[in-house]
Amino acid sequence: MIGGGPAGLTFARVLHRHDHPVTVLERDPAPDARPPGGTLDLHENLGQLALDKAGLLAEFRALSRPEGQAMRILDTDGTVLRDWRPRPDDRANPEIDRGQLRDLLLGPLDVQWGRGVTEVVPGTRDGVLVRFADGRQETFDLVVGADGAWSRVRPAVSSATPHYTGVTVVETSLDDVDTRHPDLARLIGDGSVAVYGVNRGLVAQRNSGGHVKVYAQFRAPLDWHTSLDRHRGVNRRAGLDAGLGAVLGAGLDLADVEAVRSRLLALFEGWAAPVLDLLRHGTAFVPRPLYVLPVSHTWAHVPGVTLLGDAAHLMPPLGVGANLAMLEGAELAESVAAAPGPGDLDEAVRAFEEQMWARAGRWAKFTMAGLERLVSPDPTEALAFFDEVQPS
Ligand SMILES: Cc1cc2nc3c(=O)[nH]c(=O)nc-3n(C[C@H](O)[C@H](O)[C@H](O)COP(=O)(O)OP(=O)(O)OC[C@H]3O[C@@H](n4cnc5c(N)ncnc54)[C@H](O)[C@@H]3O)c2cc1C
Repeated sequence: MIGGGPAGLTFARVLHRHDHPVTVLERDPAPDARPPGGTLDLHENLGQLALDKAGLLAEFRALSRPEGQAMRILDTDGTVLRDWRPRPDDRANPEIDRGQLRDLLLGPLDVQWGRGVTEVVPGTRDGVLVRFADGRQETFDLVVGADGAWSRVRPAVSSATPHYTGVTVVETSLDDVDTRHPDLARLIGDGSVAVYGVNRGLVAQRNSGGHVKVYAQFRAPLDWHTSLDRHRGVNRRAGLDAGLGAVLGAGLDLADVEAVRSRLLALFEGWAAPVLDLLRHGTAFVPRPLYVLPVSHTWAHVPGVTLLGDAAHLMPPLGVGANLAMLEGAELAESVAAAPGPGDLDEAVRAFEEQMWARAGRWAKFTMAGLERLVSPDPTEALAFFDEVQPS
């Protein structure tokens, strides 16, 4: 198994439950080598099903935040347009911090940290050859690439590479929101608050311990921060309003926190003051241009190598990527554990791939269409999208 994200750890944990040997090779030098990222909602029929297969559902329920399913949508002037609150017994999509989920999955697993893979070569005499960044190499019977968007395993089965969606997210955070920013704590509530404007949006999500992640999202060319003049024409062709191009501008140093803050405040100029406070009080700003793999990405089966999660079907972050990754990890692990011999193993992997492609293809279409509507020239599309997907 290459990669210790949600896909890789769920795969390994389910195999471990079946007393099946598995080696997890992870590039990060340690579990907490980088910030784990924001909160994840795990759906009953996807991520929670995977945790059930790993025997971890009860522990998940004890850690997760059902109240985090609350969702409020504001107009740019601060008017509350929608305010969804979960019923007390609603367990459809509870939230969990990524770090908590990682630790839950890690449990007794023996992960080899600091083992970045550079290349995978199938079909050698001794099996599938894996080359590592430190110059070492090893062979395996089956290599599962769960190494995310920029997978180094993917080239062994497919020539597809991720492409930019035209939407960039800039992430910032607030700490101790209940004590330091009680007004913002009330605005965000127990779950999330979202505001949508023309080709842009602001979303704030509560994590545990009073931590909040704020995502400013907007349509812009990939190098929006470096060259204004080149972008004027691109923005026009992409149907962007002139204001967006002018605001984003040239020569922005992304490491300069105050410069990024003031550009973002200009981008959201005119929005209600409490909404802008989400940016005013944000700490560091991390740009995350959204990349995707082609919708319905498949490949000709290669014996001994397969992909899971973002490595197989990177899609816009509309709340399903980790869920699919985990369910695929659990399902592949069950198939591998049930296969009596090497020939059966290959057949099991083939069958798994067909099932994964069909399901992921449907979700990729849904999330691509969702992104178009959430970051859209017509903000009423975002509201209509939520009206369709939120349980009433
Ligand atoms: C802003 C944002 C919000 C999101 N919110 C949600 C949400 O609410 N719900 C949801 O379901 N999904 C969400 N997603 C999507 C979700 O994060 C991903 O789909 C999910 O993390 C995919 O899991 P994975 O295990 O396939 O890949 P990853 O989580 O990317 O894990 C890959 C692992 O492989 C390791 N790795 C990478 N390269 C190598 C290498 N060469 N050698 C060895 N190891 C390597 C990495 O260090 C990492 O640990 C969100 C994404 C973003 C960007």
